[in-house]
This record gives sequence, structure tokens and C-alpha cells, in this order.
Amino acid sequence: MAKPVCFSCKKPIGVPEFLSGLCGYSPDTAHFTARCPQCSEHLEFQCNASSLTFGCTYWAGSMHFEGMIPTAIRGLKTFTPPDPPAIHYDGVTYPVKPD
Ligand SMILES: [Zn+2]
Repeated sequence: MAKPVCFSCKKPIGVPEFLSGLCGYSPDTAHFTARCPQCSEHLEFQCNASSLTFGCTYWAGSMHFEGMIPTAIRGLKTFTPPDPPAIHYDGVTYPVKPD
């Protein structure tokens, strides 16, 4: 199983630890933000059933998300508005906790 790797401190992050740091969701670009448990950098990513894709946002008339680093992780399930934003993984739901 691949692990997310923080682009700032370059350390791998366990999926549960990573998802415990969820701190934002942007409906415009459908990307989540999580805080690295090791260096506190904010990491932006999109999530689907089989991968997390790290990337960055940029402004070009409207907000866009550019995916750059896909990481294969099976069994992810996302919840987005009108549900409270959250990601479900391995039997646990990790809610977005705005900081
Ligand atoms: Zn980090």
C-alpha cells in the first residue's frame, strides 16, 4: 500500500494520521486540505475511491486544481456537501475540522 508523501518534509505519512489532519474542503475545485502531522504544512489533494492526488491550486479567472502526484490508496470514500465534508477509510470516517 502506497503512503502519501509530504511534498514539504518529504516524509511518508500513514493514511490514518494524514486523514486525521483534514482541515478544509473547497467545493469549487473539489479538493481537500490536510495538515502534515510532521511539519504542519497544508497539503492540497483530490480524493477518489482508489487514490489521493496531491497538487496545488491556482487562479485563472476562477479557482483551478492541478493534480501532480497521484498516490494509489484503495478503499477511500469521500463525503462532500450537502453532507459535511469527510473522508472514510478502513472503517473510520475522518471529518474535516477547519482550523
Ligand atoms: Zn510534512
